[in-house]
Amino acid sequence: MEKITILGAYGTKGSHQETSSFLINETHVIDAGNLLRSLDEDAAHIDTIWLTHSHLDHIVDIAYILDSYFTLRSKPLKLMGLPETLEAIQKHFLNDYVWPDFSKIPLSNADAMTVVYEAVELGKKYQLDETTSIEAMKTVHTVPSCGYIIRKNKTAVLITADTYKNPLLCETLKKYPEITALVLECSFPSSMKDLALESLHLTPSLAEEEISCIHRPIKLYFNHLKPVFIQQIKKEIYSTSLLKDAIILDDGDTIYF
Ligand SMILES: [Zn+2]
Ligand SMILES: [Zn+2]
Repeated sequence: MEKITILGAYGTKGSHQETSSFLINETHVIDAGNLLRSLDEDAAHIDTIWLTHSHLDHIVDIAYILDSYFTLRSKPLKLMGLPETLEAIQKHFLNDYVWPDFSKIPLSNADAMTVVYEAVELGKKYQLDETTSIEAMKTVHTVPSCGYIIRKNKTAVLITADTYKNPLLCETLKKYPEITALVLECSFPSSMKDLALESLHLTPSLAEEEISCIHRPIKLYFNHLKPVFIQQIKKEIYSTSLLKDAIILDDGDTIYF
């Protein structure tokens, strides 16, 4: 069985909750919501961050792993993402106003800049190591966004990241029978469906509609709960027949697929 570690599981920071990050292998992560506390000095070995979108809870630790481990790095940090995501980071985050533009700062240990950007092509398989590949899938959010399919050996997991209902989800699951696990976001309780629509997130009842098209066994995980609603969302998930066997992820958990 293959696995991925959850470095941060929640939809915003709480007193004991960290935001979205997944460790794919020793050098690749999806999103940068919580890299420093979870990885400590190992964060210096991360060389590629696959971004789902530009919201702060998914990018914040880019700033701190660059600042804290700048002198330990011997390779640039590669930021992969949709062109609009990379543009947002360059314009509004690593722009010399909010934080230094590390794409203009050379590494002290190598003949390269500290950060490089590369656009992700939707639907293209990128090989990360001998057994692992990653592929981006378009999602439905308030800014351009994507989820990722991670394949390890013959099995795969689909991580949607922030999304509202997305017709591509079922199409993708039908197309790729090797996907044995799904990490779906669930940000708000079902009573807040108007806010979910406005912010393009899911609730337990929207998630139930979303997965009703899946007609094969699949391990279902939920992440991105907003900490203030954890108890309510858990109660709703566990009392919904289609969702009741799902696992609600916490920081440090492992996804098996
Ligand atoms: Zn988010
Ligand atoms: Zn978001």
